[in-house]
Amino acid sequence: MAGGTLCVGKAAWDAAWEHVRRERPREAVGAFVGRQCARRAVPLPNVAGDPRVAYRADPAALLRLLREAEAAGEVVLAFYHSHPFGLARPSARDRAEAYWPLPYVIFGLAEDRARAYLLPSGKEVLIEVVDRAL
Ligand SMILES: [Zn+2]
Repeated sequence: MAGGTLCVGKAAWDAAWEHVRRERPREAVGAFVGRQCARRAVPLPNVAGDPRVAYRADPAALLRLLREAEAAGEVVLAFYHSHPFGLARPSARDRAEAYWPLPYVIFGLAEDRARAYLLPSGKEVLIEVVDRAL
């Protein structure tokens, strides 16, 4: 990730949108995985107590993903989750629970828009969707 930009392949981008729409009314959570640019969107089970208002990626599934990506020479480039009836902005809880030094992509289905942030700072990261083979 260079210059505060997150690069995502169009197929991965479309797959993430499909995932977050499919999960509504629950919050969806997943990861963008690739090398320089995300080649795939990997859905993760949301094990939050009430997945309608919160998300928590299943720790075992996340660990499997991290190992599998490493074995494939890939990395997790960003995490994503959705606000099924909200905006593409981090909630107080999103900031408080942020852990990874990676962009957090938030899909705000109320405005049909996605934006990415470093958290907890809230600094916005540009998303570049590229339509080419990765
Ligand atoms: Zn959120």
